[in-house]
Amino acid sequence: MRRRLAVLLVDALGWELAASAPGFAAGLPHRRRLETILGFSSGALPTLFTGRPPAEHGRWLMYRRAGSAGTPFHGFRWLGLLPPRLRRSWKLSRLLARLVARRGVRGYFSLYQVPRDLLEEFDLAERDDIFVPGGLPGGSLWDTVARSGIRWQGWNWRTPESEALSAMERALERGPEDFLFCYTADLDAALHREGSGGADVRERLARYDAWLTRNAHAARRRGEELRLVLLSDHGMLDVRETVDVMGALAGLSCRWPRDYVPFFDSTFARFWWRSALARGEVRAALEGVRGGRWLEDEELERAGALFPGREYGEDIYLLDPGVLMVPSFMGSRPLAAMHGYDPAHPQMAAALLASHPVPDGVRHLRDVRGFLEDGLAWLAEAR
Ligand SMILES: [Zn+2]
Repeated sequence: MRRRLAVLLVDALGWELAASAPGFAAGLPHRRRLETILGFSSGALPTLFTGRPPAEHGRWLMYRRAGSAGTPFHGFRWLGLLPPRLRRSWKLSRLLARLVARRGVRGYFSLYQVPRDLLEEFDLAERDDIFVPGGLPGGSLWDTVARSGIRWQGWNWRTPESEALSAMERALERGPEDFLFCYTADLDAALHREGSGGADVRERLARYDAWLTRNAHAARRRGEELRLVLLSDHGMLDVRETVDVMGALAGLSCRWPRDYVPFFDSTFARFWWRSALARGEVRAALEGVRGGRWLEDEELERAGALFPGREYGEDIYLLDPGVLMVPSFMGSRPLAAMHGYDPAHPQMAAALLASHPVPDGVRHLRDVRGFLEDGLAWLAEAR
């Protein structure tokens, strides 16, 4: 009997969201709540694919401080000479994004609303394609796939979701591949836009459910043993409150970029200091803000996100679950839902749903690589 393995990785399909939809993915009865990592998909996906925490694979948040390896934003400080309206224009953003890609960045990135003249202070952690062999330092699931000689094909954010799902279905129907993989971030976008109760969110869940059922039935008709895995990298939390961290710093005597370099993610504020005075003032100011707290080294260490080189921030401030930073470098308007909070919050948990049993030890994103490699070994056995 021909064996196949199909993995659908749906960004932000939280454990609780999957459980809240009645009858969702009924053909995948083996289910596990997965603990996620502190941070966003830029750190969570490399952890899924390598089985290692961010401090080991080196990828955490999308932007890190530029180091001696140079930055794809080289020369961008001169953009500060442009009139503000032009600096913020959509056309310039597109031009800059193309330039960054031409400079060799093959990973996922967005310039969001990071001040264009500040970009040169930063680097993109994901320079390579993380969905192919050789894309992650120290090896990943994809290197194992390549070594196994198993015929496979994968789709990711580079292909629109509906196109990718159709192509995967066609490959299952009549392709030579035995391992098929698809990553989609469309549900993540819908959740940010609408929150967990949104109509598009529910419609997407129904679509994934129908896709899984259809493919399970088709495999049975073809007389194949198809293992289906639906999994995610983190959950999502409806936003209950916004906080203006940038505004709280605007009134201080120390200013960025003169006295410190900041990066304002949606739930993190990260700082690199040019003076001890600035550090003292900023730390004290944010201690007085409700809705967040400074992360100490012990907590970062436990989270697997303590970087000795401090490339992701010398001091890091994290917002409480459900609180969103508005404005931030990621956007100036509130969103309905967000992630990137303390991974211990129940709604941050990711999910693993499978058509076959999941070993007891699979509890964390770190354990998924081993689980999928067991699947590859199962495929190889049949050859
Ligand atoms: Zn997201």
